[in-house]
Amino acid sequence: MKLVDSHCHLDDEQFAGDRDATIERARAAGVERMMVIGTGGGPPDLEVAIRLAAQYPFIYATVGVHPHDAAKATPETFVSLAELARHPKVLAIGEIGLDYHYDFSPRDVQRTAFATQLDLAARARKPIVIHTREAWEDTLAVIRETGLANGGIMHCFTGGPKEAEQALELGFHLSFGGILTFPKADNVRQAAALTPADRFLVETDAPYLAPVPHRGKRNEPAFMVETARRLAEVRGVTTDDIASATTRNFDRLCGAAGGPC
Ligand SMILES: [Zn+2]
Ligand SMILES: [Zn+2]
Repeated sequence: MKLVDSHCHLDDEQFAGDRDATIERARAAGVERMMVIGTGGGPPDLEVAIRLAAQYPFIYATVGVHPHDAAKATPETFVSLAELARHPKVLAIGEIGLDYHYDFSPRDVQRTAFATQLDLAARARKPIVIHTREAWEDTLAVIRETGLANGGIMHCFTGGPKEAEQALELGFHLSFGGILTFPKADNVRQAAALTPADRFLVETDAPYLAPVPHRGKRNEPAFMVETARRLAEVRGVTTDDIASATTRNFDRLCGAAGGPC
C-alpha cells in the first residue's frame, strides 16, 4: 500500500523532539510521500516546508500565506512567494483561503490575500490548497471572481453532499482527513461516498485532527491509514483501492509523478 499525505505540518514545533522518527513511522505505515504545508508562522518566513523538502526526497512542499496571517503579508511577501513557487519541490500554493471562525486577520484583508494568491498560482501554473472555515460562500465567490486555473484541493473537507457538488463543479479535488472517522460526521461520509474516484485525496493535517482511535492526541502522517480504511468502508472498496486512487489523483493534480523525487 502506497499512500500520500497531501496535507501535513511536519514543521510544527510539536514534532521538534521526534520529527525523524515520525517520518520513519509514516513510511513504515505505507505513507510513502508527504506534502508539507509551507505556511508556518506566517510571513516573513515562507520556506518552512521547502527546508524539510530539501532534507527528504519523498517530502514535497507548498508555499503560501494562511488566512490567519493575511495581515502580516506585504507586497514583498507576494513577490517572494512568486519566486518560491518556481522551486522544483513546490507542488502547490497553499494553504490559502478564508477563516471567519478565528478572524485572526480582518476579513477584507483575508479576501485580498486570497485573491492575490489565486492569481499568483495561475501564473505559476500550480494548483491551490484551500483552507475555508465558516466562510464557504465567500470562498466560492472569490474563486469564481478570480478563476481557478490549475485545479485545487479543498483541504480537510468538512461539508456535506451539497458543498461537495459545488466544489466538484468548480473543478476541485476533495481531501478527506481525520474528521471522516468522527462518529458525528455523517454528512462528510455522504460527501465522500458521492465523490468521483478521480477527485478525492486523503490527508492528516498533522499535528491537528487525529482520526479515531487516536482522536485528541497529536496527529501524525502514519495515522492516515485509519482515515484511508474508513474511506474504503464508506465507498465499499479496499484500502488498497483508496491508496492507489489517491496516489494517482495526487500525481495527476500536483505533477509529482516522475518528478524530482
Ligand atoms: Zn487548514
Ligand atoms: Zn493545514
